[in-house]
Amino acid sequence: MKYTIKEDPHKNELVQKVMEISGENIFSCYQCGRCSSGCPMAEFMDVLPNQVFMFLQEGDVDTLLNAKTPWICAACFTCTVRCPVGLDLAAVMEAIRELQLRKNYDYVDPYKVEDREELPPIALVSNFRKFTP
Ligand code: SF4
Ligand code: SF4
Repeated sequence: MKYTIKEDPHKNELVQKVMEISGENIFSCYQCGRCSSGCPMAEFMDVLPNQVFMFLQEGDVDTLLNAKTPWICAACFTCTVRCPVGLDLAAVMEAIRELQLRKNYDYVDPYKVEDREELPPIALVSNFRKFTP
């Protein structure tokens, strides 16, 4: 079997950025899965909450930068309440969203929203504030 030596995730610049922005030590997660099992949005996510920490611990931030999960997270803090080490996953999701936005990753193209005139203005404003840089 062939083994590939990955970059040390402790030295990965993007992993460090996520920890710096969120203030969370992602290496304290031990993959118990309690966050994912209680998350009300898990069924809509392409990367489960515990997998967010798994990818970060492996230094695979690219997968997370291309995931929809940080935008699906409702920041309800259920995961934090359930986490035995008190990790604030909502803050980690926010950090990943910030990195996505810094890369000019637009989740919603304002020019492609249909029936803009029919939508309440506050829905448009909050949508663009969250989903576009
Ligand atoms: S804060 Fe986000 S990840 Fe955590 S339980 Fe709520 S929706 Fe799921
Ligand atoms: S509940 Fe906490 S320790 Fe368990 S997998 Fe989720 S983040 Fe990791």
